[in-house]
Amino acid sequence: MIYMDNAATTRPYSEVMKTFMNVNEAYYFNTASIHQSGRKASQLLEASRKQIVELLGVPDYRCIFTSGATEANNLVIQSVLGRKRTYGRTVLVSELEHPSVLGVLEAMKNDGFRIKYIRTLPDGTVDIEHVRRLLDDDVIFITVMAVNNITGSIQPIAEITELLKGYPKAHFHTDATQAIGKIDMDYTGVDSLSFSSHKFHGLKGTGALVAKEPRTLSPILHGGGHENNIRSGTVNLPGAVAMARALRIATEQRDAAAGRIAGFNHKVRMALRDMRAIHLQPSGVPHILNVSFIGAKGEVVVNALGNRGIMVSTTSACASKLKKLNETLLAMDNERAVIEGSIRISFSGLTKEEEVDELITALRAVHEEIGEVLK
Ligand code: PMP
Repeated sequence: MIYMDNAATTRPYSEVMKTFMNVNEAYYFNTASIHQSGRKASQLLEASRKQIVELLGVPDYRCIFTSGATEANNLVIQSVLGRKRTYGRTVLVSELEHPSVLGVLEAMKNDGFRIKYIRTLPDGTVDIEHVRRLLDDDVIFITVMAVNNITGSIQPIAEITELLKGYPKAHFHTDATQAIGKIDMDYTGVDSLSFSSHKFHGLKGTGALVAKEPRTLSPILHGGGHENNIRSGTVNLPGAVAMARALRIATEQRDAAAGRIAGFNHKVRMALRDMRAIHLQPSGVPHILNVSFIGAKGEVVVNALGNRGIMVSTTSACASKLKKLNETLLAMDNERAVIEGSIRISFSGLTKEEEVDELITALRAVHEEIGEVLK
C-alpha cells in the first residue's frame, strides 16, 4: 500500500508511539490528583505545554489541550463570540475554512451575529483587499486558516495581522492544522491558533487551542474545571506528551522534508502536465497537490488508484461523504467538471521517492484506462 493521503491524517512516528506507551505505563495518573503521583503527571503536562508554545514560536501564549482542531475551533468561536457580543456582531471568515469553522458560524447566525465571507482569489488565497473593505468597528472576530486543506494554498496571515492593527477589538484566529510541521509560519500576530496532532505524525484525538489571552475564553465543555477551567475532562496526558514529541520531530525535520517533498510535487506535476484533459490547481505547500481529470468523477480516479494500491482522496476526507461540490474549489471559480474530477494527493516526510514513481506510473495507467470519458 502506498499512502498519499497525508492531508487527511499521517502515520504516527514510531518514537511518538513509544512515548505514548511509556507515559501510559509510568504516568497513568490523573493530572488533577493532588497526591505525589498526580503532581508528577501534572508537571509532565506543564512541560509539554511549554514545549509546544516554544516550538510554535509563541512562548507567552497558553496551550489548551483539546481532542483536536475541530474542538479547538468550536471552543474559540463559541467562547470569544459569546464574550464579545456586546462590543459588536460582525465576524469575517474566509470561504476556504474547514467545516469545523464554517459550521459553527453558520449555527451562530441565529444568535444575531453577522457573518461576512472573505472572497477568494483564483490562486486559492483570500483577497486581502476584500478584507480591507469588510473591516469596520463592528468586527469582533476574524478567522482565516493558515494553509488550505484542499489545495495547500498558503494564506496571507502576516498581511491580515498588519491590517488588523487599527482594529484592536477584533480577535484574529487561524486554523493552523495544515500548516504545522509543513511550513515555518509566524504566529505572533494572531490571537489564537488551532491544530490536531495526527496531521504531523502524532496521534488522533489530541490537539490544542493556543491563545494569547486565555482569559478571553470560556468553557464549552463544563465539568471538573481542568485546563484552567477552559476545557473540562481528564486530560489525555499520554496524548499531550506524544503531541509535544511529534511537534518537536516534525519541526526539526520540517525544512529538509519540505525540500524533498517539493521535488516530489514537481515531478508529479511535470508528468501530469503532459496528459490531456488535466487541470492542476495552483501550488501552495508542496505537501498537497490537487489535480482534476476533466470529464471523469474524482471518486472513479480515487478507486482506480486504490485498485493499484495507492491511497489518495477526492477533495478532502471530511467533505467526500457529503456529496456536494467542494467549497474551496468553487470559491476559486473552478468549473463544475474541474471540481467533480478533482483528486487530492498529499505527501509527508515519510513519503519515499520510489512511491512517487509508482504513483506516476499509476496515474498514467488510470488516465489511459478512463481515456474515453476525459474531455
Ligand atoms: N481544520 C483543517 C484545516 C483540517 O484539515 C482538519 C482535518 N481535516 C480539521 C480542521 C479538523 O481536524 P480534526 O478532525 O482532527 O479535529
